[in-house]
Amino acid sequence: MTDPLRADCASCAALCCVVPAFARGADFALDKPAETACPNLADDDRCGIHPVLRERGFPGCTVYDCFGAGQHVTRAVFPGLDRRDRTVLHQVATVFPVVRALQELRWLVRAARALEVPAALAADLADADDELSRRVQGTPEQLRGVPVDVVRARVNPLLTRASEHARRSVRRPRDLRGADLVGAGLAGADLRGASLRGAVLLGADLRRADLRLADVTGADTRGARLEGADLRGTLFLTQAQLDAARGDAATRLEGALLHPAHWAPAA
Ligand code: SF4
Repeated sequence: MTDPLRADCASCAALCCVVPAFARGADFALDKPAETACPNLADDDRCGIHPVLRERGFPGCTVYDCFGAGQHVTRAVFPGLDRRDRTVLHQVATVFPVVRALQELRWLVRAARALEVPAALAADLADADDELSRRVQGTPEQLRGVPVDVVRARVNPLLTRASEHARRSVRRPRDLRGADLVGAGLAGADLRGASLRGAVLLGADLRRADLRLADVTGADTRGARLEGADLRGTLFLTQAQLDAARGDAATRLEGALLHPAHWAPAA
C-alpha cells in the first residue's frame, strides 16, 4: 500500500510547481509568482528538467517534501483537479499549505510513536494522530478553518517529551535548539542526543560528527557537510534534510533513509 505521508508525484497535479511563489536565488534560478505554473513544467504535469535540477540552478526543488499533501489535495480534496482551471486553483492554493502542515505533523507524530515512550505519552500521541488524520480528511472549507498554529502548539510538546524520553540515556546532551550554526566547525563533534530542533546548520561542517539520537526536527541542513557522520537513530530526520545536505557513502544511515544520488562516493 502507498504510504499516505510520502510524496507520490505521479498522483499529483504538480501543486508544488504551481501553488507557491519562488524568489530567484541559490535555490531557484528564476522568480515565479504564486498560483502560476513554473515554465519548466511540462503539459503532462512532470518537470521538464527533473534529471538536471541541480545543474540548472533549482536545488530547492530537489529538497522540497510535501509529505503526501500534493496527492491528497489532488485526489481527495479536489477530485479531478486540473491545475489549469484558475478558479479552482485559487481555492487549492488556500488549502494546500494547510494540508501540507497537517501531513508534516502526522509524519512527526508517526516518528514519535515509533520511539519507546511511557504508556501515557503513547496514548496522547495516538490521540494526536487520530485528530490529525481526521482533520486532513476535511472538506476545503473545513481545511481552510484549521487553526494550524493551535494544532501545532498542541502537538509540539508531545514530540518534545518523546524526544526527551528517547534521549534520556545520553549524559548531558548539548542543547542547541534554534542555534545559529551557519558554517560552524563541528567536524568530529560528539552530538549524541543533542537537541538541534530548529537549528540553522547551513553549510555547517559536521563531517564524522556523531549525531546518534540527536533531535533534528526542522533543522535547516542546506549545504551541511555530513561526510562520514553517524546518523543512525537520529530523531525526526527527514529524507529532505539529507537531500539538502552533502554527504558520502561513509555517512551512516538506517531505516528508510537513503543516500541521495548527488552525494559523493566515500573518500
Ligand atoms: S523546476 Fe521542475 S520541479 Fe522545480 S518548480 Fe519547476 S517544474 Fe517543478
